[in-house]
Amino acid sequence: MTVTSAAMTSSVTPQHEAALLASVPTGLLINGEWREASDGGTFDVYDPATGKVLATLASAASEDAVAALDAADAAQASWARTAPRVRAEILRRAFDLVTARTEDFALLMTLEMGKPLAEARGEVAYGAEFLRWFSEETVRDYGRYLTSPEGKNKILVQHKPVGPCLLITPWNFPLAMATRKVAPAVAAGCTMVLKPAKLTPLTSQLFAKTMMEAGLPAGVLNVVSSASASGISGPLLKDSRLRKVSFTGSTPVGKRLMADAAQNVLRTSMELGGNAPFIVFEDADLDKAVEGAMAAKMRNMGEACTAANRFLVQESVAQEFTRKFATAMAALTTGRGTEPATQVGPLIDGGARDDVHALVTAAVDAGATALTGGAPIDGPGYFYQPTVLGNVPNGAAILDQEIFGPVAPVTTFATEADAVRLANTSEYGLASYLYSRDFNKLLRVAEQIEFGMVGFNAGVISNAAAPFGGVKQSGLGREGGTEGIAEYTTTQYIGIADPYAS
Ligand code: NAD
Repeated sequence: MTVTSAAMTSSVTPQHEAALLASVPTGLLINGEWREASDGGTFDVYDPATGKVLATLASAASEDAVAALDAADAAQASWARTAPRVRAEILRRAFDLVTARTEDFALLMTLEMGKPLAEARGEVAYGAEFLRWFSEETVRDYGRYLTSPEGKNKILVQHKPVGPCLLITPWNFPLAMATRKVAPAVAAGCTMVLKPAKLTPLTSQLFAKTMMEAGLPAGVLNVVSSASASGISGPLLKDSRLRKVSFTGSTPVGKRLMADAAQNVLRTSMELGGNAPFIVFEDADLDKAVEGAMAAKMRNMGEACTAANRFLVQESVAQEFTRKFATAMAALTTGRGTEPATQVGPLIDGGARDDVHALVTAAVDAGATALTGGAPIDGPGYFYQPTVLGNVPNGAAILDQEIFGPVAPVTTFATEADAVRLANTSEYGLASYLYSRDFNKLLRVAEQIEFGMVGFNAGVISNAAAPFGGVKQSGLGREGGTEGIAEYTTTQYIGIADPYAS
């Protein structure tokens, strides 16, 4: 493992960083205006690679959240009547603007979240794609019209926007998690109150500014960054004007929000935690499997709900796979994401790094072997060594919990049935990855494993045109694909009397 130093040449100058940060709005976006918090509160946003403050933002209080809902509610009726083509073209312009500002969005994410610039650029492309995809879906949200089976009455089914939505996003994909919700809500004709994660709100602030430049009317998108998440969600979930909450984040917080949302029987979309199995069968192309394992594990430093969390390798190839995987992990370069050589950035904060290390330590104490890595990296920032653990005993906590760091525990299995059983031994059911040259085997296993998403010989499966989401405690609903817009619409049935009856 190599660690880059600040002395290495970076294409990003401090002046460039300062100019970008100065262009990010620091207020709350309410009814098309950027405002201070009603109580004057603020909070700081930090660079996880240095621990230094990047910016100070207004911290929305409960009154501001209600003011944001006032604006969303007031804008809802006229926004719902806006021509689909108009909404589509706003999204398309937003896609063009975000894409044109790829370097700004990428650098901002690298600064506040830590991911290497190359990955941040990838997230801009992925995140922007939701704007383009849903601009195309906006004009194709079909209802239906049919004759009733009795042959007399007519059945008309139409989709309507669900109404004002609360959108809550996590810190790990600051742009894509926002566009994955905002774009289908715009497409469906919903107004919104967006609450980004307090650790990485800057990208959402710049994204909201860009949406306004793309022509979004005042009040349709309101942004209430805040140091107090429950101070925002609490009053809004109790307010009968709110019709939906779409949340991406951890399963415990999702459960709490579902319980609160039950009081007003709110529509919910829940994109929660994962514990992805990465299954390598003995007939797999092992080099491709290692390549896929690197992508599935190390994207976002392992801080992804889709991150491969458990490597299940068939016994006969386990040694070879693990050796090659550990070699590839050991060769990675860790450092600040702005350094061109960096492949692995810091973890989001000190607590996250401590949690990762506690899981590694417990696994090693239980008999696992650190084949590479296994420790935090000293110095400013919250870096952790890319780590491969061999011989991880079944039942180790690291196999049950989201690791959310650059750590890969490897275990073995004997038969296809064992692989299915082990994969399903989790309360989560989000992403899964299968490697084999036998397509029938891949299909057979996919049918038996309880996961919302399955990759066949692919380490990255996220795509705006595909329905992203989980089963079991990984959540409810889907984002992206043709399913994505349905999360923001309600179905209305109109029964029409027999037009031939006199
Ligand atoms: P988190 O649950 O701590 O926070 C997510 C969001 O919820 C943040 O905006 C946070 O401020 C807010 N929040 C926290 N407590 C709240 C409360 N009591 N009331 C209202 N809002 C509250 O999660 P995180 O640490 O930001 O993100 C990591 C988690 O997100 C992981 O579990 C990861 O798997 C999950 N995630 C899931 C997906 C998916 O699509 N399924 C995608 C990305 C991340």
